[in-house]
Amino acid sequence: MGESGLAPGGGTPADSGRSGRRARHRRRIIFSELALTITFTLAMVLGVAERGDLASTAIFLSGWLLNLLVLALCCVLPWSRIPSRWVILVPLVDFVAVGLSRAAAGEALGGVGLLAAFPVVWIAASRVRTGTAVAVTIAASLAIIWLPLVLRPEPLTADALIDPILLPIMLTGMAWFVSALSKDNRRRQEALRVSQAALRESVEAGRIRERLLNTVLDTVSVGLLAVDADGNDILMNARQRRDHLAAAPVGNDDPNEAELLIFGPDRVTPIPPEERPVLRAIRGEDLEGVQIWLGPPRSQRAFSISSRSMHDDGAYAGTVVSFNDVTELVLALQAKDDFLSNVSHEFRTPLTSILGYLELTLELRDSLPGDVVHHLEVARRNAERLEQLVEDLLAINAGTFEVNPVATDVGRILAEAASSASVRATRSGLHLVNRAPSSLPAVADPVRLAQAVDNLLTNAVKYNRRGGSITLDASLNGDGLTVAVEDTGIGIEAEELHHVFDRFFRSPSVRTTAVPGVGLGLLITKSIVGEHGGSITVRSEPGQGTCFTILIPQPPR
Ligand code: ADP
Repeated sequence: MGESGLAPGGGTPADSGRSGRRARHRRRIIFSELALTITFTLAMVLGVAERGDLASTAIFLSGWLLNLLVLALCCVLPWSRIPSRWVILVPLVDFVAVGLSRAAAGEALGGVGLLAAFPVVWIAASRVRTGTAVAVTIAASLAIIWLPLVLRPEPLTADALIDPILLPIMLTGMAWFVSALSKDNRRRQEALRVSQAALRESVEAGRIRERLLNTVLDTVSVGLLAVDADGNDILMNARQRRDHLAAAPVGNDDPNEAELLIFGPDRVTPIPPEERPVLRAIRGEDLEGVQIWLGPPRSQRAFSISSRSMHDDGAYAGTVVSFNDVTELVLALQAKDDFLSNVSHEFRTPLTSILGYLELTLELRDSLPGDVVHHLEVARRNAERLEQLVEDLLAINAGTFEVNPVATDVGRILAEAASSASVRATRSGLHLVNRAPSSLPAVADPVRLAQAVDNLLTNAVKYNRRGGSITLDASLNGDGLTVAVEDTGIGIEAEELHHVFDRFFRSPSVRTTAVPGVGLGLLITKSIVGEHGGSITVRSEPGQGTCFTILIPQPPR
């Protein structure tokens, strides 16, 4: 009696079509009734054949015929148009049929009463309450078993009472049991239906998300690749498929990672397979804007590659790599650098000439009126500034600052730098203190070191406030030569600290002031220190001051 096989009013799967549901409802009614009819028929055949002493064969047969009629009605009635609560009439009429046959069979075939189990199970398994099912069962079993017993003329014997007592108890117990069982079954089906609906909903939501993700992935102009922990591709958007093919050697339509044409920033040096960004990302490295060139020389494109690794419960689960085509940007920057370099070269010759003629003219200062000498000196100072700027631009474009580290007295270099900076500091109402030892022998390029310290002192003066102070300090320790320039100036915002060494960077607050500058000084200082094999760090508190520290490693003594 699986599902609600004998429960025509039982629930139906929500996703079935209406006609399918109706057909199933009808089938259940017919099969439920058919089960009783078959058993009834067998009992009838056996009863009539074996026990000729049935009290009344005609009544016995009429019970069976009533059951056959009910079956026929079950087959022809339009169940879809009959309210489901009326279906309960079928087992009730079955009770009457069983009752008739049982009364006719009498003591001779007492087992016929057991046929009442069919309608009992039917009612108990339907959606009626357990109490109602039990009440109907008690009433029906009493009616079919006790009524004939009470009405018959012969006196009741104790033996004849056992069956009529046991059967209603058995049937009632059965009704109770089946009703509870089918109620539990229905509850389970309902829970299953709810969880199936939730599952369907989440599958549908997943499908919508996937569609959205695919559309987004194919809309963005960035190539995206996701790789699992074993290095297998799990996702690649249309853009990335295209770029991947563009990196293939001519004549190879399906290149593996090692065969791809991938070059460094100089566009000619191939990047060895194990150092390629994708392999580094697969090894779990998080990349940020690694620049490479992809493809054969004539159609090379520049890409900026970033990656983020994924983790599942702390374990590495793969990585997502993005490929941003920055060819136009890189070419534009290159064009700008070339332009700056060309312009600087063009400036250099006339500037040298201007400075030469100014020097010559100033040599005649004794024969010139005082204000003319002053004007010429202003012109020379500005021409010198311009010359310094041109030199800086050319040096930056060349990419390196040649340094010649020699044994030198850093104490003397710093004293000279402090003395020329203190003139400017005093003019700006600042107090400059040189705490460095007067003699500090170390290995460094004297000219370049002076240039680096000069840049830091110039900034400490420029980005300070009247009444502020500047401290220059230096020492030699196990790490090398340390030179620190500290000021009590305007300071640098935390988010700008990472950019102060960038080319042409000037903090927004400084750009709106009259403080002169182009954003190259710190880059030059950093390059000089870098060429010495050293490093430069900055510490700053907005509104409080800034401290730049240079560290230049020293050869072992
Ligand atoms: P420039 O001084 O020509 O603008 P630099 O490369 O020397 O270029 O400095 C870059 C930027 O860093 C400056 O524009 C300024 O915003 C900030 N900066 C550098 N030094 C200091 C300092 N000592 N105090 C505050 N800000 C500074």
